[in-house]
Formats: sequence, structure tokens, C-alpha cells
Amino acid sequence: MALDSPNGTPVLDGHAMAERLARMIQLPTVSAELAERGSDPFEDFISLLRDLYPLTHGHLEQERIGELGLLLRWRSTAPEADPVVLMAHFDVVPADEAAWTHPPFSGHIEEGWVHGRGALDDKGPLLVILEAVETLLAEDFTPERDVFLSFGGDEEIYGSAAAGIAQSFQDRGVTPWLVLDEGGAVVEAPLPMVSGQTAMIGLGEKGLASIRLSCSADAGHASAPDGLTAVARIGRAVGRLTPSTFPPKAPEAVTRMLQVLSERATGPGQRALKLLGSSSFLTGQALPRVGPEAAALVRTTVAATRIEGGTADNVLPSSASAVLNLRLIPGDTTEGAVERARNRIDDALIDLELISGSDPSPQSPAEGPQFHALAEAVRASYPEALPAPYLMMQASDARHFHRFAPAVYRFAPLEMSAEQRRSIHGVDERVHTDSLVRGTLFHRQLIRNLL
Ligand SMILES: [Zn+2]
Repeated sequence: MALDSPNGTPVLDGHAMAERLARMIQLPTVSAELAERGSDPFEDFISLLRDLYPLTHGHLEQERIGELGLLLRWRSTAPEADPVVLMAHFDVVPADEAAWTHPPFSGHIEEGWVHGRGALDDKGPLLVILEAVETLLAEDFTPERDVFLSFGGDEEIYGSAAAGIAQSFQDRGVTPWLVLDEGGAVVEAPLPMVSGQTAMIGLGEKGLASIRLSCSADAGHASAPDGLTAVARIGRAVGRLTPSTFPPKAPEAVTRMLQVLSERATGPGQRALKLLGSSSFLTGQALPRVGPEAAALVRTTVAATRIEGGTADNVLPSSASAVLNLRLIPGDTTEGAVERARNRIDDALIDLELISGSDPSPQSPAEGPQFHALAEAVRASYPEALPAPYLMMQASDARHFHRFAPAVYRFAPLEMSAEQRRSIHGVDERVHTDSLVRGTLFHRQLIRNLL
């Protein structure tokens, strides 16, 4: 796919984009291996961006923030206006090469598909931002608000690059008008009874918490156990943390999603979605009955991920522990979640400790000029797609900006089938060239309409 500008010069060349993305994929910026393998691939990646996007690097001011944060500033005609921040991360998760059809760091291109780790998460989304800026600069365009490009190299390890960049805005007293990061995508049939293409735009994200449960008990011989052993006590505690530990409550991002998606449903499905979209209470009651994914939209989830205890088959354990992974719905807090788990476990001999956590983000509005600008950009790039709000289940770098910026959205303007979405953090991750072209169109439209 190549699109021509009115004067006949090809401005968007999908093949060239695919080649550039392949070069990005070939640099193994695996942040989980940073400590052991060093930062060379990350430095090489930043140098590669300079080679691939000369106009961007010629016109935009550049700043390194922390070791892995890169911030580029495109000055506008209105320096007093609140700026826009377009975010992406250039680190990736590891890939088990044996399971892949094409080696994950080869950047193999075939029949329009670019294969490799990071194609969707998040080098493809990073590329389309730069393609838009580079092509607009080639047309001598100047934006009406400052546009910042915020690229982090440690998102996948919950690192500090994006946090440092967000902090630099706060330190300078600058509140962005709009922040856009990864999250939703252009998808087909987002719910069983909803057909057609939808652009899922995340209004917020769930929080997360890791909680350690631990228990000490008198050691002794396993032939004469006295009551519950530490292992049994931890087992009982984990068993008490059923899904109903956290009561369902539908966040606004979810009821708004149902309202909007009801437009694309037919018959009884449409009536059901409309009804649910009108009542946070009903949605909270209904979705957990649909299945675990639907339930996760309306409540804090808890999963025991590790359990440990004991030293020998015939020795009573003196201690045991378990780790819980929680995903918090907007409105809940990490501290409140620890207290609720403690009450549910109801055992004075079990200690609970919050190992790490981050509260859920606020929810950005599903209307207003910023959401409208995103919806317009969707219409320009994916005319068939219905822009719909939703709640992101995973953590993103955007959460650092969401602490102080009111309009932070999570959407990558790439088409992702259900199979492609499973390939993120899985095997055979790939993106289609048409999507790269449309994603570039999305950002061009967005940047041109920052009023
Ligand atoms: Zn990502």
C-alpha cells in the first residue's frame, strides 16, 4: 500500500516502512536481559532512529532522561498551549526462538507481513509516530501545540524511564493537553454479539499489586502434627481468596464501552448491551457470569502465583509463604486490597506484606476535545472503525502521566486480530504493512488537528 499526496509525490511508502521496522526488530532490546547483556542494543536502537528519521532528528530537540528515556520536542506555533505527548516503548520481552516460525529478531518480511518480537508491542506503534512526524516535516508542517515524543526502554520491566520523563513535565509545571500510549487497537468483533471493526481506546488502566502471605509455626516431626502446619495454613488462606473476595463494580470506562458497542449489536444483544451500559450495578452483576475475562473488567482479581514451604517429606514445615498477584479495578487501592485480603483470610497467624504495587489510574473522559481528536484520527485512517472507550487490563507507561494529566489515552493505531493479540508476549508476533500505513495516517491526522 502506498498513498500519494496531491502533488503526486509518494508520501507514505509501506514497503519502506516495513524495512525500517525490520531494522528496529533486528536489535534485540530485551529489557529483561539488560542487566546481564548490557545496554548496547538500546544505544544502537537510539542511533538507528537518528539514521532512519533525519528530519525528525534535525528539527526536534532531544533529551535523554535517565538511562533509557528519550524525549523529543517538536516546537509549535503556540508555545503557551499545553502540549501533546505521544508515547511508545522500544524494549521488548524475551522470545523463545524454537517456537517461532521465523526467528523473532530477524525482521522477516513476507507477503506484506513484518514478523518479529516487538512488531506490535511496541516498535510498530513507535514507528508509525515517527513516520507521521517525518512526513509532516517533509511538507514543512508546524503543529499548533508542541508535540513531544516520549520513548522508554524499560516498560516491560516496570522501569523508571517513562516515570522520569513524566516527572520532568511535572518539575517544569507542564501538564499535557493529551497523552497517547499503547493499549487498545483496531479490532474485529470486540464482544461476541458485536460485529464490525472497532478502535478500542483505553480511558484508564487497572492497578496491580503483589502481596506476600507468610506463616511461621513450630517445627516438629511429621508423625505427630499439632493442628495446622504452616503449609496447611497458607493453603487454607489461598483457598479463602475466592473470586468473590472483591465485590464487582463496573468502572465508567466499561459502561461507556457497552453503550457505544450497543450501536454495532443487533436484536436482543443490542437491548442487553444498552441496558447494561445504563447501569453500573447491573453490569457489575452480569459480567462475572459471562466468564473470567468479562469478570476482570468489573472487579479486582486475585491469583496465587507462587507458593513455598517445607524442607523435607517427613519434617513439619516451620514456615510457608505464597505470593498473590492482584489487578485492581479503578476505585480500589493497593492498601485497601491488602486489608480486604486480610479480612477474607481471617487468620491472625498469617502475615500480609505488600511487595509492590501501583494504584489503578484515573479514567479519562469518553468525550471532550481530546477524545474527539482521537476519534477524528480513527475516522481518517480506519473509516470503517467505530471508536469505543474501554479499560486496559495491563499496566502501561501512561500511568505515570495519568497521575497529573487529565486526558491520557491508550491506543495503538494498528489493526490486531485476536490471533495477533495473542502473539504479543507470545510467539509469531507480526504486523501488516497496511496497518503501518494506516497507523501513520492516524498520527498525521491527529498532529494536524491539535486545536
Ligand atoms: Zn508494550
